[in-house]
Amino acid sequence: MQQRSGFDQFMDLFLLRVQAPEGHEDRPYYTTGSIVFAAMVRVAIIGVITLILSDRISSETIWYVALFAIWLVGVWPAHLQYQRFNAHVKTLQTGTLCGACRHFNPTNQLCTVMDVHVTSDAPPCEGEAWEPLQH
Ligand code: SF4
Repeated sequence: MQQRSGFDQFMDLFLLRVQAPEGHEDRPYYTTGSIVFAAMVRVAIIGVITLILSDRISSETIWYVALFAIWLVGVWPAHLQYQRFNAHVKTLQTGTLCGACRHFNPTNQLCTVMDVHVTSDAPPCEGEAWEPLQH
């Protein structure tokens, strides 16, 4: 399986990828932090470009275009990525042994006992450390 560096992952997010690449099963591709961080970088870049252009273009239109670009390039892809992230977490929670275990942390998709990411229906502990959820 091909390992992807943090830089590759960031660039994928920055380039508005909304689906994890093939062969990326060893750890969660999207996290809330990476989604928010990439969205903030995109919005910051749009902000800088807008400020530069606003010095040269005196029309108010530039601000409307900037707002639209922030929504289109900054917020909307992050929303799509977050939906995928949530769908993946829900799949883990409802379709795996780890999802029914009290040691599974859905926020970061981590087993708190093994300190590893849960990315498939095979529990990293092979079921030995499983304990039922407490309601
Ligand atoms: S203890 Fe085992 S079953 Fe529970 S979350 Fe960790 S790996 Fe999954």
